[in-house]
Amino acid sequence: MPGDKDIEYMKMAIQQAMEAAAAGEVPVGAVIVCDGEVVAKARNEREERESAVAHAEILAIEEASKRLGRWRLSDCTIYVTKEPCPMCAGAIYQARMKRLVYGPADQKAGAAGTLYNIVQDERLNWQLEVESGVLEEENVRLLQGFFRARRPPHHS
Ligand SMILES: [Zn+2]
Repeated sequence: MPGDKDIEYMKMAIQQAMEAAAAGEVPVGAVIVCDGEVVAKARNEREERESAVAHAEILAIEEASKRLGRWRLSDCTIYVTKEPCPMCAGAIYQARMKRLVYGPADQKAGAAGTLYNIVQDERLNWQLEVESGVLEEENVRLLQGFFRARRPPHHS
């Protein structure tokens, strides 16, 4: 079960996702917390950076590492507004993070339990604790609202 703190940090990640939506980006946000301290907040910046790797999780990991002066984030929890994709799940695993908390599952690209489970694969040398479905409805609404508003007129 998610604790009160988890809800609080997820709300912070949702704030980031909302900023992404306002900037015309797919609304995904991420927050990294180490020892009770927020060390990174990021959002999807794929369009602005014209970069396929500029997902919220990747940018948050970079920021946290810079701030802490180390790549290993084994005392950190990452909060993401939706299930990470294979690239981000891979990066979260590479950073040796302790815990992953996310909102709704991603049926098309989820790599933390849906299509793959990169963060808990025992063939790899690191597994995370995972909490899913945190503030799921808020995040689903945010994503659906974004795609509904952005979808061009349908051509068949
Ligand atoms: Zn990703």
